[in-house]
Amino acid sequence: MKYIGAHVSAAGGVFNAPVNAAKIGATAFALFTKNQRRWQSPPLSATAINQFKANCARYQFSAEQILVHDSYLINLGHPEPDALNKSRQAFVDELSRCHQLGLKLLNFHPGSHLRKQSVEQTLAKISESINLAHKEVPEVVAVIENTAGQGSNLGWDFAQIGQIIANVADKSRVGVCIDTCHGFAAGYPIHTQEGFMQTFADFDALIGFEYLRGMHLNDSKGQLGSRIDRHQSLGQGEIGHDCFKYVMQDPRFDNIPLILETIDQHIWPQEISWLKQLAGENE
Ligand SMILES: [Zn+2]
Ligand SMILES: [Zn+2]
Repeated sequence: MKYIGAHVSAAGGVFNAPVNAAKIGATAFALFTKNQRRWQSPPLSATAINQFKANCARYQFSAEQILVHDSYLINLGHPEPDALNKSRQAFVDELSRCHQLGLKLLNFHPGSHLRKQSVEQTLAKISESINLAHKEVPEVVAVIENTAGQGSNLGWDFAQIGQIIANVADKSRVGVCIDTCHGFAAGYPIHTQEGFMQTFADFDALIGFEYLRGMHLNDSKGQLGSRIDRHQSLGQGEIGHDCFKYVMQDPRFDNIPLILETIDQHIWPQEISWLKQLAGENE
């Protein structure tokens, strides 16, 4: 089964996210469990947690269909010790919020070297950050998102993600989320069938499909290899329609959250319905 949805608003409380997802016909969703642009947020109240769980049950969302996204401020490979510690603490807080909500998948951007340390050192720090976080919070899987490679962001190259995973001790609690816009901007030619098949053959060789725990389905305003992270509505950017058809018709992308982060929320119901149709899963 394909789980298809969008990164929905949790304004007013996390318990609103499943309601917002149900409204657009989604069978998956992503959310922030705190303000993604701030370091500190108040803890989740018992009432909010219970209401979240009740709404998920009501609209039939299981933990496998929900992908939490962490704060944009966190850099688990930060070159400076104080800033690295701050990021590690915030990451543990994100994981424990997931755990409190009964969720399993925390999606994050791997980190940046900020031109102050080598790629190797940064990747090793990211693996260490994941290992430390695993000791603090049980069960939740740390899901590494591929990036567009903007600035000094790492994780645009599948080999870098493979290297992070290689140094994680508990491999059952690390995963990957592939963002189509980021992959295309990083130079993976997923807009053609041949390019798509080759890209995911490379993915399987360098990372492994067993680690794929989610996808972000976005078209791209930037060109192939532009390293620019600018999302577009499906079929309206440089990637075009076909890539999303390949995903929907390929069983390797079954049973993981497939999440829209496209720019026009008003057409999410149509985008979801189109994707379901491609998967042969329209109600
Ligand atoms: Zn993304
Ligand atoms: Zn992006």
